[in-house]
Amino acid sequence: MATIQPDEISNIIRKKIRNYNKRFKIETIGTVLKVGDGIARIYGLDKIMAGELINFADGTIGIALNLEPRNIGAVMMGQGTNVKEGSIVRATGRIAQIPVGSAFLGRIVDALARPIDGQGEIQSEKNRLLESAAPGIIARKSVFESLETGLIAIDSMIPIGRGQRELIIGDRQTGKTAIAVDTILNQKEKSVYCVYVAVGQKASSVAQVFSTLKKNDAMDYTIIVAATADAPATLQYLAPYTGATLSEYFMYKGQHTLVIYDDLSKQAQAYREMSLLLRRPPGREAFPGDVFYLHSRLLERAAKLNDQMGGGSMTALPIVETQEGDVSAYIPTNVISITDGQIFLSADIFNSGIRPAINIGISVSRVGSAAQSKAMKKVAGQLKLELAQFAELEAFSQFSSDLDQTTQNQLARGKRLRELLKQPQASPLSLPEQVAIIYAGTNGYIDDISLEKIHSYIVGLKQFLTNTKIEYVKTLEKTKNLDEITTNLLKQCLDDYSKQFAEKNFTEV
Ligand code: ATP
Ligand code: MG
Repeated sequence: MATIQPDEISNIIRKKIRNYNKRFKIETIGTVLKVGDGIARIYGLDKIMAGELINFADGTIGIALNLEPRNIGAVMMGQGTNVKEGSIVRATGRIAQIPVGSAFLGRIVDALARPIDGQGEIQSEKNRLLESAAPGIIARKSVFESLETGLIAIDSMIPIGRGQRELIIGDRQTGKTAIAVDTILNQKEKSVYCVYVAVGQKASSVAQVFSTLKKNDAMDYTIIVAATADAPATLQYLAPYTGATLSEYFMYKGQHTLVIYDDLSKQAQAYREMSLLLRRPPGREAFPGDVFYLHSRLLERAAKLNDQMGGGSMTALPIVETQEGDVSAYIPTNVISITDGQIFLSADIFNSGIRPAINIGISVSRVGSAAQSKAMKKVAGQLKLELAQFAELEAFSQFSSDLDQTTQNQLARGKRLRELLKQPQASPLSLPEQVAIIYAGTNGYIDDISLEKIHSYIVGLKQFLTNTKIEYVKTLEKTKNLDEITTNLLKQCLDDYSKQFAEKNFTEV
């Protein structure tokens, strides 16, 4: 009979104690008091941080927003239909964050950076906090490189610099999205990574933007963040921050990036909805008091970093929709005051057939001209002057029948210049092309061409400049200046082309 020795037992006990796994996990757990409309009131999460991620029992993710003495208010990032009164909620100890990285390029993601394009998982490089502090003044440098939109009216008169925040504002259906998408298309081979954030739009609009970008090979350097109109308000509120976070990754790596928020009025509406449900006191236009902070902390993240910080830049093009051109409503005035200028689109101009429908008189860019190339500066000055004179003359001459010859000439010139600034969608123009077109307009090359022919003049000129691979394009691309030599080269070009154009049109008649 085997007998167990006492020391055998104590050995076993000792071994057990030695191998005892001391690691244990402390979880903060709360219970749902009340739930509805994507908002939950939770009891018991005393040590929670503002903006901390929480997990509901059914897997729904939430973010703690209202920290009150007795309970907290949290928003749910999903339907959360299985969350009920009494359900368990776990705090994660992590402030809301999302994965970021270059692997996101070419993909469509939701407001939590989860892929929604059916192309599989995204291998992220690291995580970034959704809300991070904007770079301070020491970390910044003033804007000096240009971000070309490829739209002649903008690049010449309302130039945008890398690191700038330029608002695109206008009524519905005035071509706001078109300007933003054209700007993305023009960043091809310019090493600017783009993030397009769609907030509260129809899924079909987002699909259209995607297909335009795809068709023009622009998805290679673009990420789309979509929180469509049917997404919960909480996701629509978060999507711009997600876009900023994905974009910031590139900026802090020393690269250039462009982020488009289409549009911030819808984000503000989503935020209003959430805030009212959280029972925050409503203020002007029923928006909560901190709706300014909602947009300022987002747009402040756009910056041009100094060389010690890597020299990266993040340019932001927020979009805001106005009602009947009213820029004095709450959200438009807020965002105008946060940004470095605005491109104002007007429905009247759009309907009169001038597209892009930019109202040049009230559009400004406060920092971009520092980044404009010398060549563009030279030709744009004259253009602005002539257009301003034309605007005055046109209004005035509507009432008089017989005008003297000089006035008639000025009017004719102005009409042609306005025609030059029309540009179809998805047809960006390079710097040499834009300079040549404006130079032709302000130096009398198109004065004898009828208004209807101006578009074909431009199309032909563009082809002429590409096909003949002329010295002018090469020199301008290199120096970006319109010095005497380049000006002479350009004059030669325009003389040759205008002759060709006149002959062709003469034979056609
Ligand atoms: P929404 O308020 O619905 O978002 P939006 O202001 O973003 O509208 P877009 O969707 O960009 O406007 O454009 C409205 C319409 O105008 C579209 O059908 C578009 O194709 C057309 N459009 C925009 N820009 C131009 C242009 N430069 N030339 C011709 N058509 C244009
Ligand atoms: Mg739009």
